[in-house]
Amino acid sequence: MAEDTQYDDQPAGTHPDEATPDGIQHDAEPDIQPEETTASSALSRLLAGNRRFAEGKPEHPWQDPQTRESLIDRQNPNVAVLSCSDSRVPPEIIFDAGLGDLFTVRTAGQVVDDAVLASLEYAVDHLHVRLLVVLGHEGCGAVHLAMDELNDMLDATTGDALDSLEAADAIDSMEERIAEADSIILRTVGFSVWQAQQADIDAQDDIERVHVAHTIEDLVSRSEVIQDALAHERLMIVGGRYQLTTGEVEVLSF
Ligand SMILES: [Zn+2]
Repeated sequence: MAEDTQYDDQPAGTHPDEATPDGIQHDAEPDIQPEETTASSALSRLLAGNRRFAEGKPEHPWQDPQTRESLIDRQNPNVAVLSCSDSRVPPEIIFDAGLGDLFTVRTAGQVVDDAVLASLEYAVDHLHVRLLVVLGHEGCGAVHLAMDELNDMLDATTGDALDSLEAADAIDSMEERIAEADSIILRTVGFSVWQAQQADIDAQDDIERVHVAHTIEDLVSRSEVIQDALAHERLMIVGGRYQLTTGEVEVLSF
């Protein structure tokens, strides 16, 4: 596609006017070569933006009419973000980013379905993003809902058991029941909750972290495009959790 070749000679993630003498430089990193305008430098810029936001000193970069006009014919983001739809967690604001910076996909509980996969694969394959951030957050309503739905399912599953042996069998069947549930929240977030609880992880904060890890696993296992980009080191995936209380994003290591 012509759309692809258009970007070949550019470092990833630059704004069209970023390199011009008069262009406003944001977080210029002169030691990093263009071909290394990679995941790690993109992550550093994101975290620097989050720090500005959390400290109450956002720059609101790249939101002026000149930037908007320079992006009419193309976009070249170097970061894709899959995050929750929660109104308190808009990626552009919490990372103090601007037009053309982030390719965002948001669903409640950052759950993955075919449309989410296709959108992220487009970002990886056609926009050549170098970094994919899967972002959960503190106080996630979808996680809370999944915990409730899971409890209801567990009660219904074990409620009919006549003895402890039958109850144990019922618990053994939970994974299958979750996978076959009508509710997508239960099938995705609920599965993460179940896995966490099976590992004696009960605090919602920790369950939110486990859910981010599961979401990444899910994305990778379902997408050959993402597997291929990872294998050829064209992409890095990072998990994060936004803290409502501090405004900071914690980077998760698994
Ligand atoms: Zn949420």
